[in-house]
Amino acid sequence: MDLEIEEKPLKLYFIPYLAPGHMIPLCDIAIQFAARRHHVTIITTPFNAQILTKSLSFNQNLRLHTVSFPSQEVGLPDGVENLSAATNLDNLTKIYHATTLLRPPIQHFVEQHPPDCIVADFLFPWVDELANKLRITRLAFNGFSLFAICAIESVKANSHYDSASFLIHDLPHPISMNAAPPKKMHELLVTLFETVFKSNGIVVNNFVELDGEEYIKHYEKTTGHKAWHLGPASLIRKTDQEKAERGEESVVSVHECLSWLNSKRVNSVIYIGFGSLCHFPDKQLYEIACGIEASGYEFVWVVPEKKGKEYESEEEKEKWLPKGFEERNSEKGLIVRGWAPQVLILSHPAVGAFMTHCGWNSIVEAVSAGIPMITWPVHGEQFYNEKLITQVRGIGVEVGAGEWSNSGYGEREKLVSGESIEKALRRLMDGGDDAQEIRRRAREFGDKAKEAAQEGGSSYKNLTVLIDDLKRLRDCNLQASKC
Ligand code: UDP
Repeated sequence: MDLEIEEKPLKLYFIPYLAPGHMIPLCDIAIQFAARRHHVTIITTPFNAQILTKSLSFNQNLRLHTVSFPSQEVGLPDGVENLSAATNLDNLTKIYHATTLLRPPIQHFVEQHPPDCIVADFLFPWVDELANKLRITRLAFNGFSLFAICAIESVKANSHYDSASFLIHDLPHPISMNAAPPKKMHELLVTLFETVFKSNGIVVNNFVELDGEEYIKHYEKTTGHKAWHLGPASLIRKTDQEKAERGEESVVSVHECLSWLNSKRVNSVIYIGFGSLCHFPDKQLYEIACGIEASGYEFVWVVPEKKGKEYESEEEKEKWLPKGFEERNSEKGLIVRGWAPQVLILSHPAVGAFMTHCGWNSIVEAVSAGIPMITWPVHGEQFYNEKLITQVRGIGVEVGAGEWSNSGYGEREKLVSGESIEKALRRLMDGGDDAQEIRRRAREFGDKAKEAAQEGGSSYKNLTVLIDDLKRLRDCNLQASKC
């Protein structure tokens, strides 16, 4: 009888937040459970389900359940159900508000068909109450590195985050910060973490070797909470097609992308992308263009499409692109206007560096590909991620971003100049001793990432232990409910 229970597949619900940086990795983690023959249901809204249907290969172990998105209640047009679909700050706020209204339909579904475990994003903190009521194991997810969580907790404990630059001195390494987090954002994260710490554990899209045993021990000691490193999530995608079909539909085809990259030398191309939510003002894009051009390196540059415009007039374009830029750089560069197949691009041998906004997924995807980074954090926890990459692991150089924004939108007080960008690109691409050493370390972490995800690697083993633990908890809950 015990053996039968042991062998019974787990029934898991995943509730990803409606933003690519949360949804993509959590769904890739859900696939890992389904690949081990557990029954996985991803709960989302209709428009996000459409994206997922295209980007996940479904089998009998992996299903979607949709609940309707309250577009009318919050005054959003149909189909705008993901933070990446926002065209301005107002829409962004409305989508955020709409996600808080998803509780009743999700709760109803869970109550009707309770699973053994819920893995929910920390932006749905109400799942805590629901899981407790139903005696269901709950794992939290937020898409952060554990390093960033440790840093935020440390800043909370020391409350010295108002000054523009400060030292975090009680982590395993002293970390010097060159910008202060917006107070409201910091406080919101701290509050959300309080609910995370009440869960049965946090699932992390990272591998032990990159966060480091020392940070895992620090986390567990200071919070009393368990972290499960199951990443890099993107490594579940093996073929070019699987890598390209991650997230939204790409505006360049696999063929187009690969044939352009195949024509370039190994490590010669800089990939420049700022994730799914960052919209720089035209003035900043202009500086980026100047920096790239002055450096003379080859590049793939992802620029979010200006939504609602079918094409851009020359006049519009000149606001963000120096006159004649495209003609002068037609051989050297590829500008992707819209969604790019990022994981496919990063895994191509021609790509030698990544200028990134330090969104955690972007970082862990670059690390998995063994690619060094030029770091340019913008908002959220990205400034902490930068320090893990540059100060702790030495696999990137900083562009010198010093303005911690509230979101990816809006004007900036400080622009990063074309000269600073050019300088940072040269530092990493000039082939000097420093650059060689950074590249060597990045390659080493790339190997470690792949090992972690393989059978017998640290993340693979963690998943085995976690599954055993979840089965044990399921059986305990079952026994308790019989009493
Ligand atoms: N992404 C992509 N193509 C794009 C933009 C983003 O594939 O054009 C993916 C990227 O690979 C990553 C996610 O979207 O998996 C963005 O997450 P990240 O944490 O890097 O940044 P965020 O968008 O949350 O700021």
